Amino acid sequence: MTLINAAMLLGVVLILTWRAGLAQQELRQIVTSGSAAIERLDRIASLHATFRVQWSAASARSEREVGAAARTYASIRQIAVTADGDDRVASLVAPIDRLDAELRDAALAWRDWSPERRATAARSIARRCEQVARLAAAAREAALRDRDRRLEEISHDPSKTRLIALGVAWIVVVMSVAGAVSAMRRIVSPLENLSLAAQKVASGDYKARAPVAGDREIAALGSAFNEMAAQIEANVDATELRARTDELSGLPNFRAFGEHLAEELARSARYAHQFGLLVFDIDHFKKYNDAFGHLAGNDALVEVSATIRRSLRTVDFPARYGGEEFVAILPQVDEEGMRVIGERVRQAVEALPPIEGRRPITISIGGAIFPLDGTTSEALFHAADERLYQAKEGGRNRVVVPSRPKVRELS
Ligand code: GH3
Ligand code: MG
Ligand code: MG
Repeated sequence: MTLINAAMLLGVVLILTWRAGLAQQELRQIVTSGSAAIERLDRIASLHATFRVQWSAASARSEREVGAAARTYASIRQIAVTADGDDRVASLVAPIDRLDAELRDAALAWRDWSPERRATAARSIARRCEQVARLAAAAREAALRDRDRRLEEISHDPSKTRLIALGVAWIVVVMSVAGAVSAMRRIVSPLENLSLAAQKVASGDYKARAPVAGDREIAALGSAFNEMAAQIEANVDATELRARTDELSGLPNFRAFGEHLAEELARSARYAHQFGLLVFDIDHFKKYNDAFGHLAGNDALVEVSATIRRSLRTVDFPARYGGEEFVAILPQVDEEGMRVIGERVRQAVEALPPIEGRRPITISIGGAIFPLDGTTSEALFHAADERLYQAKEGGRNRVVVPSRPKVRELS
């Protein structure tokens, strides 16, 4: 595009230079040849006028005088005949020749002619002379007009050429602007968007993507960047999931539980809902480990985790709290609802068939209700732990939850 524009501008400059040279040459030609012709015609006209005056003054001429006049006229004729290449002067040659011939004839026969014949010839010569003078004057006027017209044309020519050059330059400017806009669309904008997307990803917005647009190479860059961003997003998602998941049980870990509990506290406080917190602890798990080994203990932990998850509602949020203890958030339950759910979990664990040769597993469960048992995670855990302790004290494999609504104590 830039090359085309540069070539066009060079073309305009060359045309302008060429036209200027041409105009100068034409001007020189008009001034020199036009002026020479005008001068010559002027001279022919004035010589004929003078000749005519002289001729008519001497009406009764001697043979010698007529001969001298013929010779004088022959030299006047030379002026017209020697003007090469000028049409206006050339058009006078024929009448001048006729006058010249008439004069020469008169000079030769003058002696023999009667006075009447001489007078007739003298009038005829005077008429012809007058006619040539008129023709020369008219030709001079025409040549003058012609020269003025051509000068006028030439003076208009540069402005016409300038107009054309301006037009071409304008087209070049428009094309340059169009080229710049198109380059902006194809290269600059997609690159800016790409850099914007890169900044977003760098600042932790892993979902940011670059538009795949512009030139082929830029678009390829955009899609390569998007693939990379998708890979980063997947890795980050996997890492975040791992950071919130307990490896052994596959349940959310204590960290994820803490975040979820904070959200549930805020949500329930805002909408004035109740929710339950259950704490599960496997009974005599130390003995189980001691009897069947640590790996068998792990198997039991996995089974209990799956049983807890299965026995809860889909809206409930279970987690491994640590060791052989589990917790669960039960949104929008009352005391009775929480007891039913806790009981369901306990029975499901109790009902698990013992793994070959090992003894059955039971769990004890303690529960607390927001906001009856407290409005902070510490208060709720404290209440649930107390009830878990009661369940253990009461003989294990049981659920202890608040049995009737309590009046909330405001501190
Ligand atoms: P209680 O009924 O009073 O809860 O008795 P307990 O034996 O279950 O309680 P204690 O706190 O005395 O023992 C907990 C045991 O849980 C001790 C530890 O070996 C076992 N344990 C904790 N985490 C794991 C684990 O990840 N894998 C296995 N296999 N055992 C674990
Ligand atoms: Mg324990
Ligand atoms: Mg235990």
